[in-house]
Amino acid sequence: MQVFTTVDQLSFHLEKKRKKGRSTAFVPTLGALHHGHLTLMTYARSLADIVVASIFVNPTQFNDPKDLEKYPRPWGHDIHLLCTTMVDILFLPPEHEIYPAGYKIEVPVNISRFTNVMEGLKRPGHFEGVVTVVKRLLDIVQPDYLIMGQKDYQQQVIIGSMIRQLKRQTQLSIHPTLRDQDGLALSSRNARIDPALRPVANTLFMALKKAVELQPICSPSEVEKICSGIIRDQGFHIEYFTLADGLTLQPVSDWNQHDTIVACVAAWLGDVRLIDNVIVKPPTAF
Ligand code: AMP
Repeated sequence: MQVFTTVDQLSFHLEKKRKKGRSTAFVPTLGALHHGHLTLMTYARSLADIVVASIFVNPTQFNDPKDLEKYPRPWGHDIHLLCTTMVDILFLPPEHEIYPAGYKIEVPVNISRFTNVMEGLKRPGHFEGVVTVVKRLLDIVQPDYLIMGQKDYQQQVIIGSMIRQLKRQTQLSIHPTLRDQDGLALSSRNARIDPALRPVANTLFMALKKAVELQPICSPSEVEKICSGIIRDQGFHIEYFTLADGLTLQPVSDWNQHDTIVACVAAWLGDVRLIDNVIVKPPTAF
């Protein structure tokens, strides 16, 4: 695996590969990698000739400076993990490579119709930061494929919209969430869960699965109420349990009025905030 830390060197290298007709799949991350991230790398490997991963703790997407400061940066371990998954290139830029002095940091597209719900409400400015950095990274890497996880459902919908608005050639490919044996979605935050609380951490996934089970017999608001109750009973503090349109992310009040529906949850277990989702109504095939 080659590691690049500057935009110029990476761009020069990838330009040579492009001229030889090589395709590229790109997996952006914040680092602190786990096996969920690695499944994205393996998926990328199956799509393109060259797999590029990036690790960049993007300051513009953190609304709390303390969170940014505390974000783990175990890069030696990350590099070791990436070497085991046949990633060709790691882009590990310092901040001034992504946002050089004088660079005008601006949100590249209007995403306001997706940010009035769920994470957008709880973390103001977060998605504006995400689209800003992903656009910058796409400009640098110019990949054929951009790989993201379903784990961050709202994020992938917003990035999909950005790609369409910018009319980019890059194809967004979404990989399902990798889970622990008991169903807890893998996340860098899981290491911070109090071991005494870990046995109930999979309640989020249990409740999401319950939503799928109840869909044929309950109304959306009944499902939200029952599932929220399941989560609360195990000691979580819920921020939201929402049935959302899978494309627009807007709340669902009638199962029949939406082609695809996703159940999304954010809740605190002790001092760790967890998010998860499952598709409740898959899009109808045509
Ligand atoms: P992050 O470093 O947290 O920004 O995550 C980088 C990418 O990995 C994002 O596209 C996430 O959706 C994805 N990801 C995070 N956790 C998982 C997981 N458990 N399974 C699959 N993909 C994941």
